[in-house]
Amino acid sequence: MDENAAPHSLSGQVVLVTGGSRGIGAAIATAAAAAKATVAVGYRDNADAAAAVVARIRELGNVADAFRADVSDRSEAQELISAVESSFGRIDGLVNNAGIMPSSPFLNVTAEEWNAVLHTNLFGPFYCSQAALPGMLQRRSGSIVMISSRLGQIGWPELAHYSAAKAGLLGLTKSMAREFGPQGVRVNAVAPGFTITDMTRDIVDTESGHRRLKELPSGRFPEPEDVADAVLFLLSDAAGQFHGQTLNPNGGGFMQ
Ligand code: NAP
Repeated sequence: MDENAAPHSLSGQVVLVTGGSRGIGAAIATAAAAAKATVAVGYRDNADAAAAVVARIRELGNVADAFRADVSDRSEAQELISAVESSFGRIDGLVNNAGIMPSSPFLNVTAEEWNAVLHTNLFGPFYCSQAALPGMLQRRSGSIVMISSRLGQIGWPELAHYSAAKAGLLGLTKSMAREFGPQGVRVNAVAPGFTITDMTRDIVDTESGHRRLKELPSGRFPEPEDVADAVLFLLSDAAGQFHGQTLNPNGGGFMQ
């Protein structure tokens, strides 16, 4: 990989990206490898997609492996962390990126759907963080990045469960940052705006997509690589003064 392409070095670090098989997570995994990290690519269903990300990283001379786990299940999340620590010795950077976004009018949201969204998007990061923290605290060093969403900041019709989970992540981030910052572990969040991935691709060329694009000062939807840039910064030593912060790679779609 072209070392000059990575502005923030993660040399010597082990980074786990949950949901690293596709979209934003795949871009983060690839960017972390370009920054010289050893990368654990988490996935739930798409073994082939995860293997393709790992192969791309290895072809370029970096170390990576794929790890299957459903992060909404506490014991699977704990096993994921143990498996990465056994394979690579430790975890320095944890990116809680795995997520789902089924849309439903609020009055139709079933308990099952509510639970699935909350368990994947909010409980998953809690489970993974809680399991990864002991190793980080022992070394008094680590960086955890939560992938929240612009919708966790502004809300969205038919995405109440998703927005609630993503808003919850911001509270979790700040609380964890206060609790663990003094012990050497930084916790921050990235809240992407509408980014072109499998999760959103169908909307790009619709009336709603066109309207959203017009609202962006940047004039273009963010790509997964734009989000990865923000995550890489937060994982790196350059972000030493960032604790409990939210970076917003959203094209200007929401300004704090
Ligand atoms: P995506 O293309 O749909 O990819 C989702 C990833 O999460 C896949 O790797 C998937 O694994 C994994 N995943 C889903 N449920 C999981 C579970 N229970 N356990 C483990 N892994 C699971 O999504 P994306 O657009 O890249 O989104 C990534 C993150 O960014 C999500 O948290 C999302 O909410 C957030 N986000 C996205 C946007 C956007 O516009 N795209 C905007 C704001 C925030 P498999 O491949 O195995 O299915």
